[in-house]
Formats: sequence, structure tokens, C-alpha cells
Amino acid sequence: MNMDWKVALSDITLGPEERTAVNRVMESGWISMGPEIEQFEYEFADYLRVDFAVAVSSGTTALHLALAAAEIGAGDEVILPSLTFVATANAVIYQGAVPVFADVGDLSDWNLSLASIEKKLSSKTRAIIAVHYGGFPCMMDQLRELAATYNLKIIEDAAHAPGAVYQDRKLGTWGDVGCFSFFSNKNMTTAEGGMVVTDNPEIARRVRLLRSHGMTTLTWDRHKGHSFSYDVVETGFNYRMDEIRAAIGRVQLAKLEENNEKRKWITRKMRQLISDIDGVFVPFSDNLIESSSCHIFPIFLEDKDIRPLVMASMRNSGIQTSIHYPPVHRFSVFSSSDRAPRKDLRFTELIAEREITLPLFPGMTDYQMELVIEKLKLSLSAARRSMDQYTSAMLTPSGA
Ligand SMILES: *Cc1c(COP(=O)(O)O)cnc(C)c1O
Repeated sequence: MNMDWKVALSDITLGPEERTAVNRVMESGWISMGPEIEQFEYEFADYLRVDFAVAVSSGTTALHLALAAAEIGAGDEVILPSLTFVATANAVIYQGAVPVFADVGDLSDWNLSLASIEKKLSSKTRAIIAVHYGGFPCMMDQLRELAATYNLKIIEDAAHAPGAVYQDRKLGTWGDVGCFSFFSNKNMTTAEGGMVVTDNPEIARRVRLLRSHGMTTLTWDRHKGHSFSYDVVETGFNYRMDEIRAAIGRVQLAKLEENNEKRKWITRKMRQLISDIDGVFVPFSDNLIESSSCHIFPIFLEDKDIRPLVMASMRNSGIQTSIHYPPVHRFSVFSSSDRAPRKDLRFTELIAEREITLPLFPGMTDYQMELVIEKLKLSLSAARRSMDQYTSAMLTPSGA
């Protein structure tokens, strides 16, 4: 947390309970993968009502293992949004597969569009990664139908969405495999960490194996005298979580519902405060808030030219803002030499140039909410004024 901000973009929710849990592990004498991890996995699976949960070192490694366990490999095409964090696409690259970017629904629905997915299908398409933007659910029943028709795997990037639901099921449990991140700015955190969830025993078995070098037994099992040696049956990774993080994660999981309820309450209030501001709107409809985990608070500016000025003015007023996301297809590493706007990603391009993320965190006070909105209004008019001055200066012949 930066102490210079009046309102930072997000804030952690760690308290004395997490400290107690960490101390318990420190005193136990066992800090690498062991009983806390088992308990965390059990509790997370129970919360989501899914058969298997496997704790890993990050959301990125969760995605990598999910793709590996789903046997996505060299030459396979994976359809995903470009309006996401770069890790979603990197995981595809790690497997030697090809990320194929599809567009989002429209200016209000910032999740993958089914029509755009269908346009991107080829004989090499093997999977879809559904990112639940901001914790707002993708239409998972329709996505599943499409995946069944074309025999594709669904991997959910639920990094924004722990606790969010679609219909009667939690997000992360709709696809073949779901991935969560516990990075420090997510709805629940272990500092760094992640989780892979699935109902498929074969995927769970492979994720466990690949998480720890492809070894058939764990250090913990050998420590407990359950085994003396091991075999290595695949080339795996060290993507393990540790006991200290798992202990923090268990406390954070217990707080998740309450924190998500606070996020929803704040989201509703902020959306109300924003509704009468000209030239600004918020994506997704109000009736989706209840099912969302409200991870971030994105707004859309009709005039893209004022965004840098608005963000700078907010910063000068002590309000931290961000952009979710610079679209992945525009990064040099993904765009080769052609960085021109892509017509097939029209809504992604429109959104990516106009989005601003405002502060949102469970401990946000009424005063902070009002301050953010007040400074937003002031920043918008200041930005518009200086754009007008700039334009009239350009139109005025020098010396006139
Ligand atoms: C945070 C995030 C990730 C990566 O998670 P890490 O734990 O930081 O590796 C992946 N996808 C999305 C959409 C994210 O927000």
C-alpha cells in the first residue's frame, strides 16, 4: 500500500487471524507442502462444491498446469480474450500452443463473445479459456454447448471470480478445469498463490503430478514414513504452494463471502453515484452484481482522448486508478510487427482505449467512495477544458 494515496486502487484484508495462522505454521516445524495445504485444498473444494482442488504457486502456474493436464500442446489453438491479463495468454505459449484472440460481447458485456469464438474456430482449435472479467460471469451454459459441439475443452480463468456464481454453480466449476489466483490484489490472497479445481480425477491427478516435478511421492509422505523413494513419470515443474501461504489462504477463504458482500455493496453504491455523470458508463448490468465477485470497478469513457488527462488529474488528487487491460494482442511480443487496430477485435479495441479502473476494496468507506466520484467529476471537466483549449489553439492561426 502506498501511503501517499488518499484512496489506493485496492487494499489487503490481512488481520490478526492471518498472523496467528502464520505463527501456527512457523511453530509446527514444517513449512513446505504438508497438512495446511491438504486442509486448504479440502476447504476450497468444499466451498466451490467441486471434487478436486490443487494448490499451486500462482494463478499463472494454475493456468499452465490446467492446460498441460488438459493435454493442450504444440500446434493446438486456444481461443481466449485479448481483454485479459497477459498471463492468460502466456500459459498457452508455455505449452507451445497458439493463442487465438476473440472479441468480447459489446460495450456493456466485456466477456468473450460466442459469435466471435465461432469465427475463430479452426481444425486446430482445442480449447477455450473463459476469463470472468471483473468477477462477472461468462455465459457458461452457452459456452459449454458450443464446446461440446466442437469437442473443445473449457478452462476458466477465474482469477477475478472466487465466490462468484453463474446460475446455481460457482465460477471455476463450469469448465473442465478452473484456475484461481491469490495474488495480493485479488479477492482473497496468499501473497502469491493459486488453485486449480476440477471434477475430473484424471486432470486432478496430472495437475498434482506436474506441480511437483512429475514425482510419484512427496517429501511430506517420505517425512511421514509413507514411502522411501519415488519415480519421475513426466517432466514436471516446481509449482508448489507452501504451508505458510496455505494457512493464510484458509483464513482468507473464511473471510471471502463477507468481503465479497462488501464489494457488492460498494459496487452498487458507486454505480449509483456515477449514473448521472455525462460521458461515462459502467459495463455489465446492475442485475449481474449479485452473482459477481466485484473484483474491480471499471468505467468506460466515451471520449478516449481525455483518458490520460483524467488519470493524471485523479493521481494528482490522490486517487489511484489503473487500466484493465492494455489488450494482449497489442503487446509487441504478441503482435509481431503489425500493431494496427484489429477489426475482428473491435469491442476489445474500443474498451481498451477508454477503460479506467477506479478504487474498490472491501474496507472502502463512504467518504472514500464520495471522494473518488467527486474527483472523477472534477477530473473529467478539467480534462475536457484543456482538450478544448488545445483544440482552439490548434485552430487559431499563430499571431492572430
Ligand atoms: C491475476 C491474474 C492472473 C495471474 O495470476 P498470478 O497469481 O498473478 O500469477 C491471470 N489471469 C487474470 C485474469 C488475472 O487477473
